[in-house]
Amino acid sequence: MRTGDMEPLVAGARELGLVLGERTLAAFDLYRRELADWNTRFNLTAITDREGILVRHFLDSLSCLRALPRRELSAGARVIDLGTGAGFPGLPLKIICPGMRLTLLEATHKKVVFLRHLIGLLGLKGVVVIHGRAETLGRDPAHRERYDWALARAVAEMPTLAEYLLPLVRVGGAALAQKGDRAAAEVHAADRAITTLGGRVRQLLPVHLRGLAETRYLVIVDKVAATPEKYPRRPGIPSKRPL
Ligand code: SAH
Repeated sequence: MRTGDMEPLVAGARELGLVLGERTLAAFDLYRRELADWNTRFNLTAITDREGILVRHFLDSLSCLRALPRRELSAGARVIDLGTGAGFPGLPLKIICPGMRLTLLEATHKKVVFLRHLIGLLGLKGVVVIHGRAETLGRDPAHRERYDWALARAVAEMPTLAEYLLPLVRVGGAALAQKGDRAAAEVHAADRAITTLGGRVRQLLPVHLRGLAETRYLVIVDKVAATPEKYPRRPGIPSKRPL
Protein backbone atom coordinates (compact mmCIF):
# COMPACT_ATOMS: atom_id res chain seq x y z
CA MET A 1 0.00 0.00 0.00
CA ARG A 2 1.28 3.45 -0.86
CA THR A 3 0.03 5.98 1.68
CA GLY A 4 -0.93 8.41 -1.09
CA ASP A 5 -3.42 5.88 -2.48
CA MET A 6 -5.51 6.27 0.64
CA GLU A 7 -5.54 10.07 0.59
CA PRO A 8 -9.26 10.53 -0.26
CA LEU A 9 -10.13 8.48 2.83
CA VAL A 10 -7.47 9.97 5.10
CA ALA A 11 -8.36 13.58 4.27
CA GLY A 12 -12.11 12.97 4.41
CA ALA A 13 -11.85 11.18 7.75
CA ARG A 14 -9.79 14.05 9.14
CA GLU A 15 -12.65 16.41 8.31
CA LEU A 16 -14.92 14.13 10.33
CA GLY A 17 -12.47 14.40 13.24
CA LEU A 18 -10.99 10.93 12.75
CA VAL A 19 -7.28 10.20 12.56
CA LEU A 20 -6.61 6.92 10.78
CA GLY A 21 -3.36 5.17 11.72
CA GLU A 22 -1.20 2.86 9.60
CA ARG A 23 -2.84 -0.39 10.72
CA THR A 24 -6.32 0.99 10.16
CA LEU A 25 -5.36 2.11 6.66
CA ALA A 26 -3.88 -1.30 5.91
CA ALA A 27 -7.21 -2.89 6.93
CA PHE A 28 -9.16 -0.53 4.66
CA ASP A 29 -6.75 -1.18 1.80
CA LEU A 30 -7.24 -4.94 2.16
CA TYR A 31 -11.02 -4.50 2.36
CA ARG A 32 -10.97 -2.39 -0.85
CA ARG A 33 -8.90 -4.90 -2.77
CA GLU A 34 -11.02 -7.89 -1.69
CA LEU A 35 -14.22 -6.05 -2.56
CA ALA A 36 -12.92 -5.08 -6.02
CA ASP A 37 -11.66 -8.62 -6.60
CA TRP A 38 -14.82 -10.44 -5.49
CA ASN A 39 -16.94 -7.95 -7.35
CA THR A 40 -15.63 -9.13 -10.71
CA ARG A 41 -17.18 -12.53 -9.95
CA PHE A 42 -20.16 -11.85 -7.69
CA ASN A 43 -21.43 -8.34 -8.44
CA LEU A 44 -21.55 -7.18 -4.82
CA THR A 45 -21.65 -3.42 -5.41
CA ALA A 46 -22.11 -0.95 -8.26
CA ILE A 47 -19.20 1.16 -7.01
CA THR A 48 -15.89 -0.43 -7.92
CA ASP A 49 -13.32 2.29 -8.63
CA ARG A 50 -10.77 3.03 -5.92
CA GLU A 51 -11.88 6.55 -5.08
CA GLY A 52 -15.54 5.49 -5.14
CA ILE A 53 -14.94 2.72 -2.63
CA LEU A 54 -12.86 4.96 -0.37
CA VAL A 55 -15.33 7.85 -0.36
CA ARG A 56 -18.81 6.49 -1.13
CA HIS A 57 -18.41 3.29 0.86
CA PHE A 58 -15.76 3.72 3.58
CA LEU A 59 -15.97 7.44 4.32
CA ASP A 60 -19.75 7.52 4.04
CA SER A 61 -19.94 4.62 6.52
CA LEU A 62 -17.60 6.37 8.94
CA SER A 63 -19.75 9.51 8.80
CA CYS A 64 -22.20 7.66 11.11
CA LEU A 65 -19.74 8.58 13.87
CA ARG A 66 -21.16 12.11 13.69
CA ALA A 67 -24.17 10.62 15.46
CA LEU A 68 -22.93 7.43 17.14
CA PRO A 69 -21.16 7.85 20.49
CA ARG A 70 -17.72 6.42 19.75
CA ARG A 71 -16.91 5.84 23.41
CA GLU A 72 -20.02 3.71 23.94
CA LEU A 73 -19.33 1.69 20.81
CA SER A 74 -15.78 0.99 21.91
CA ALA A 75 -17.08 0.00 25.36
CA GLY A 76 -19.10 -2.84 23.81
CA ALA A 77 -22.38 -1.34 22.62
CA ARG A 78 -24.55 -3.78 20.68
CA VAL A 79 -25.04 -2.66 17.09
CA ILE A 80 -26.88 -4.28 14.18
CA ASP A 81 -26.39 -3.25 10.55
CA LEU A 82 -29.38 -4.41 8.58
CA GLY A 83 -29.17 -5.11 4.84
CA THR A 84 -25.44 -4.56 5.14
CA GLY A 85 -24.61 -5.75 1.60
CA ALA A 86 -20.83 -5.79 1.32
CA GLY A 87 -20.59 -4.48 4.92
CA PHE A 88 -21.82 -0.88 4.86
CA PRO A 89 -21.91 0.95 7.16
CA GLY A 90 -21.17 -1.72 9.81
CA LEU A 91 -17.72 -3.02 8.92
CA PRO A 92 -15.86 0.29 8.49
CA LEU A 93 -17.28 1.31 11.89
CA LYS A 94 -16.05 -1.94 13.40
CA ILE A 95 -12.56 -1.34 11.98
CA ILE A 96 -12.48 2.03 13.78
CA CYS A 97 -14.22 0.84 16.98
CA PRO A 98 -13.02 -2.74 17.55
CA GLY A 99 -14.81 -2.95 20.92
CA MET A 100 -18.32 -2.74 19.49
CA ARG A 101 -20.40 -5.92 19.35
CA LEU A 102 -21.62 -6.01 15.79
CA THR A 103 -24.27 -8.07 14.04
CA LEU A 104 -24.44 -7.89 10.25
CA LEU A 105 -27.75 -8.98 8.74
CA GLU A 106 -28.02 -9.71 5.04
CA ALA A 107 -30.63 -11.52 2.97
CA THR A 108 -28.44 -12.38 -0.04
CA HIS A 109 -26.27 -15.45 0.40
CA LYS A 110 -23.32 -14.47 -1.80
CA LYS A 111 -22.89 -11.28 0.21
CA VAL A 112 -22.91 -13.28 3.45
CA VAL A 113 -20.15 -15.50 2.05
CA PHE A 114 -18.08 -12.45 1.16
CA LEU A 115 -18.59 -10.91 4.61
CA ARG A 116 -17.49 -14.06 6.44
CA HIS A 117 -14.43 -14.35 4.23
CA LEU A 118 -13.49 -10.72 4.78
CA ILE A 119 -13.99 -10.79 8.55
CA GLY A 120 -11.68 -13.81 8.78
CA LEU A 121 -9.08 -12.10 6.62
CA LEU A 122 -9.20 -8.90 8.68
CA GLY A 123 -9.07 -10.92 11.91
CA LEU A 124 -12.05 -9.04 13.38
CA LYS A 125 -13.51 -10.39 16.63
CA GLY A 126 -16.98 -9.71 17.97
CA VAL A 127 -18.80 -9.69 14.62
CA VAL A 128 -21.65 -12.06 13.84
CA VAL A 129 -22.97 -12.41 10.29
CA ILE A 130 -26.56 -13.59 9.93
CA HIS A 131 -28.08 -14.72 6.65
CA GLY A 132 -31.71 -13.70 6.99
CA ARG A 133 -34.34 -11.02 6.83
CA ALA A 134 -35.16 -8.16 9.17
CA GLU A 135 -38.81 -9.24 9.40
CA THR A 136 -37.75 -12.63 10.80
CA LEU A 137 -35.01 -11.40 13.13
CA GLY A 138 -37.33 -8.75 14.56
CA ARG A 139 -39.58 -11.52 15.90
CA ASP A 140 -36.76 -13.63 17.32
CA PRO A 141 -36.46 -13.16 21.11
CA ALA A 142 -32.67 -13.42 20.84
CA HIS A 143 -32.65 -10.25 18.70
CA ARG A 144 -35.90 -8.37 19.30
CA GLU A 145 -35.30 -5.19 21.33
CA ARG A 146 -31.74 -6.33 22.07
CA TYR A 147 -29.68 -3.67 20.31
CA ASP A 148 -28.42 -0.29 21.47
CA TRP A 149 -28.26 0.86 17.83
CA ALA A 150 -29.75 -0.44 14.58
CA LEU A 151 -28.23 1.01 11.40
CA ALA A 152 -29.08 0.86 7.72
CA ARG A 153 -27.98 2.45 4.48
CA ALA A 154 -29.76 2.16 1.13
CA VAL A 155 -32.10 -0.64 2.20
CA ALA A 156 -35.66 0.72 1.97
CA GLU A 157 -37.82 3.85 2.10
CA MET A 158 -38.27 5.22 5.60
CA PRO A 159 -41.75 3.81 6.43
CA THR A 160 -40.58 0.29 5.51
CA LEU A 161 -37.18 0.79 7.08
CA ALA A 162 -38.74 1.85 10.38
CA GLU A 163 -40.51 -1.51 10.55
CA TYR A 164 -37.21 -3.30 9.91
CA LEU A 165 -35.13 -1.27 12.38
CA LEU A 166 -37.23 -0.30 15.38
CA PRO A 167 -38.31 -3.79 16.55
CA LEU A 168 -34.62 -4.66 16.99
CA VAL A 169 -33.79 -1.65 19.19
CA ARG A 170 -34.15 -1.74 22.99
CA VAL A 171 -36.22 1.01 24.61
CA GLY A 172 -33.65 3.72 25.32
CA GLY A 173 -31.63 2.82 22.23
CA ALA A 174 -31.87 4.35 18.77
CA ALA A 175 -32.03 3.67 15.05
CA LEU A 176 -29.87 5.45 12.49
CA ALA A 177 -30.70 5.58 8.77
CA GLN A 178 -28.30 7.05 6.22
CA LYS A 179 -30.27 8.98 3.63
CA GLY A 180 -29.80 11.31 0.65
CA ASP A 181 -31.43 14.63 -0.13
CA ARG A 182 -34.97 13.24 0.14
CA ALA A 183 -34.44 12.55 3.84
CA ALA A 184 -36.89 15.14 5.16
CA ALA A 185 -39.72 14.07 2.85
CA GLU A 186 -39.13 10.40 3.65
CA VAL A 187 -39.17 11.05 7.38
CA HIS A 188 -42.34 13.07 7.06
CA ALA A 189 -43.99 10.20 5.17
CA ALA A 190 -42.88 7.81 7.92
CA ASP A 191 -44.16 9.90 10.82
CA ARG A 192 -47.07 7.65 11.69
CA ALA A 193 -45.11 4.43 11.15
CA ILE A 194 -42.36 5.61 13.47
CA THR A 195 -44.80 6.52 16.25
CA THR A 196 -46.70 3.24 15.86
CA LEU A 197 -43.48 1.26 16.23
CA GLY A 198 -42.36 3.04 19.41
CA GLY A 199 -39.98 5.55 17.83
CA ARG A 200 -39.55 9.31 18.00
CA VAL A 201 -37.45 11.27 15.51
CA ARG A 202 -34.56 12.93 17.31
CA GLN A 203 -32.68 14.62 14.48
CA LEU A 204 -31.88 14.84 10.80
CA LEU A 205 -28.20 15.59 10.78
CA PRO A 206 -26.74 16.86 7.48
CA VAL A 207 -23.28 15.53 6.65
CA HIS A 208 -20.84 16.80 4.05
CA LEU A 209 -18.21 14.40 2.83
CA ARG A 210 -15.00 15.56 1.28
CA GLY A 211 -15.11 14.78 -2.45
CA LEU A 212 -18.89 14.44 -2.59
CA ALA A 213 -21.15 17.21 -3.93
CA GLU A 214 -24.43 16.00 -2.48
CA THR A 215 -25.49 16.41 1.14
CA ARG A 216 -26.07 13.23 3.11
CA TYR A 217 -28.34 12.95 6.14
CA LEU A 218 -28.22 10.86 9.27
CA VAL A 219 -31.76 10.22 10.47
CA ILE A 220 -31.74 9.39 14.17
CA VAL A 221 -34.85 7.87 15.74
CA ASP A 222 -35.03 7.21 19.47
CA LYS A 223 -36.81 4.12 20.72
CA VAL A 224 -39.13 5.55 23.35
CA ALA A 225 -41.69 2.74 23.77
CA ALA A 226 -41.87 -1.01 23.18
CA THR A 227 -42.85 -2.10 19.65
CA PRO A 228 -46.34 -3.69 19.57
CA GLU A 229 -46.29 -7.50 19.26
CA LYS A 230 -47.68 -7.59 15.73
CA TYR A 231 -44.65 -5.83 14.22
CA PRO A 232 -42.67 -6.53 12.18
CA ARG A 233 -45.21 -8.16 9.89
CA ARG A 234 -44.20 -11.19 7.84
CA PRO A 235 -41.45 -11.05 5.18
CA GLY A 236 -42.33 -8.87 2.23
CA ILE A 237 -45.30 -7.11 3.84
CA PRO A 238 -43.46 -4.04 5.24
CA SER A 239 -42.30 -3.14 1.72
CA LYS A 240 -45.53 -4.13 -0.05
CA ARG A 241 -47.82 -2.34 2.40
CA PRO A 242 -45.76 0.27 4.27
CA LEU A 243 -47.32 1.52 7.51
N1 SAH B 1 -26.15 -1.31 3.13
C1 SAH B 1 -25.37 -1.65 1.96
C2 SAH B 1 -26.18 -2.46 0.96
C3 SAH B 1 -27.36 -1.74 0.35
S1 SAH B 1 -28.23 -2.71 -0.84
C4 SAH B 1 -24.82 -0.41 1.30
O1 SAH B 1 -25.26 0.69 1.64
O2 SAH B 1 -23.92 -0.51 0.47
C5 SAH B 1 -29.56 -3.34 0.17
C6 SAH B 1 -29.22 -4.66 0.80
O3 SAH B 1 -30.22 -4.96 1.76
C7 SAH B 1 -29.20 -5.81 -0.18
O4 SAH B 1 -27.97 -6.48 -0.07
C8 SAH B 1 -30.38 -6.69 0.22
O5 SAH B 1 -30.09 -8.06 0.06
C9 SAH B 1 -30.56 -6.32 1.69
N2 SAH B 1 -31.95 -6.41 2.18
C10 SAH B 1 -33.04 -5.84 1.62
N3 SAH B 1 -34.14 -6.08 2.37
C11 SAH B 1 -33.72 -6.82 3.42
C12 SAH B 1 -34.40 -7.38 4.55
N4 SAH B 1 -35.72 -7.23 4.71
N5 SAH B 1 -33.67 -8.06 5.46
C13 SAH B 1 -32.33 -8.23 5.28
N6 SAH B 1 -31.64 -7.71 4.25
C14 SAH B 1 -32.33 -7.02 3.32
